[in-house]
Amino acid sequence: MSTALPVYLDYAATTPVDARVAAVMAECLTPAGDFGNASSSHAFGRAAAARIERARAQVAALIGAAPHEIVFTSGATESNNLAILGAARANADRGRHLLSARTEHKAVLDPLKHLEKAGFDVTYLTPARNGVVTPAAVAAALRPDTQLVSLMGVNNETGVLQDLAGLGALCRERGVAFHSDCAQAAGKVALDMAVLPVDFLSFTAHKLYGPKGIGALYVRASARGLLEPVTFGGGQEQGLRPGTLATHQIAGFGAACELAGAALPAESSRLTQLREALWERLRALGEVHLNGAGAPRVPGILNVSFGGVEGESLVAGLAELAVSTGAACNSASAEASYVLRALGRDALLAASSLRFGLGRFTEAEHIELAAAAVAREVRRLRGMSPAAGLAAGAAEAGETATVSGEAGGPGKETWVRFRLFTEGDTVKDARVQAFGCPHTLDVAGWLCQQLRGRSRTALLPGAPRDWALARSVPAEKLGRLLVIEDALRACLLHWP
Ligand SMILES: *Cc1c(COP(=O)(O)O)cnc(C)c1O
Repeated sequence: MSTALPVYLDYAATTPVDARVAAVMAECLTPAGDFGNASSSHAFGRAAAARIERARAQVAALIGAAPHEIVFTSGATESNNLAILGAARANADRGRHLLSARTEHKAVLDPLKHLEKAGFDVTYLTPARNGVVTPAAVAAALRPDTQLVSLMGVNNETGVLQDLAGLGALCRERGVAFHSDCAQAAGKVALDMAVLPVDFLSFTAHKLYGPKGIGALYVRASARGLLEPVTFGGGQEQGLRPGTLATHQIAGFGAACELAGAALPAESSRLTQLREALWERLRALGEVHLNGAGAPRVPGILNVSFGGVEGESLVAGLAELAVSTGAACNSASAEASYVLRALGRDALLAASSLRFGLGRFTEAEHIELAAAAVAREVRRLRGMSPAAGLAAGAAEAGETATVSGEAGGPGKETWVRFRLFTEGDTVKDARVQAFGCPHTLDVAGWLCQQLRGRSRTALLPGAPRDWALARSVPAEKLGRLLVIEDALRACLLHWP
């Protein structure tokens, strides 16, 4: 059996809609289906409303909630905004301090930032190195004016699980509302709101084989008074989220939740086995770091940093895999994964991380293929790096370079070493070892060819600007070529 490429291992970013879910959605769209507006009192409206209430019960059942505690939204981003902005504004007179963590999703951090601009005070906790935020750390940061704690159930990059029971119990004891972004937890780990002391919980359909554009905020019945709406309109969803209910999306979400709940125990052990098999293969490469090591983690996420390879080059070589990376690709200035940086990873290791997201349609053969591809690229890139030493190249044909020059260095974003084989004042041959982004590797390799036959007085074939033009390097990445230029200039300094 051949495997279709690329292999999808990015289930933590989104999942495809399960065919059984798509079938249910299709029943709510066309004239023969339940397409009505659930707010209408005629038969079409009542049919749609019945569909929606069935789905509401399915969604509630996944997390052990009562159906009337489910508010449908457009997804986890909106749910987070509703919980955070809605609770903060509703309780501003009780206190203007909120507590969260640096490793939260942007869909939590950005509404918090927005509140800071409006005069609220937010404390962002730094988790322990394993990614866990302990109840003790929260207890130490709570203030008399703290009115909301927002901490996610499962981190989307590392898969690290938080102790929602312990964190929630603390909040309840201190009389502080507790919200949790559970987009990566719902349908992946058991959540039972009957025992879990969480007031508001966000989740989304497209992370559990439902459609994009639909999610829910669980609002504990006893905490309903702590929340005010952030949008206004027709009064739907108890006035908390007005707007015509998207019957097909909601019906699909309901079906997806029911399937996810039924599959959960078996999928947990199946995915844990696949994840561990992948980790065993990767750790054999040496100098690999498991992000979130030592913390409880969700079965479907494996996040690994690879020492001695540059992140963007690693990803560029893995065209047969669809995985996420901590590297700040396609941007000149963005920092590598803020989540891994917050766990204490240095910039290079944060950038050389890969997040493998395993899911319902992942099979052992996909894991094999992924492990082999990553091993191939890690070995290739490590072999090209100046860190590999000179042994391999120097042994070839017994050559000894007459001139060498390098720039950058270990621990730097870029490290380049040229070796020139000269006769008198002329370059006969040139070799390069490089650690860096794909453009750096490409331009350095191309320059080696350009150097042949050049003389000492005119060694540099133009300037970085010309090389960028010749090799289609985007203007904003021009700076990365300066290290190459420095390495060539170093050759001139060392020319005997
Ligand atoms: C995917 C995700 C979100 C965003 O969910 P949407 O439904 O796409 O808005 C928020 N938080 C976490 C942790 C996620 O993984």
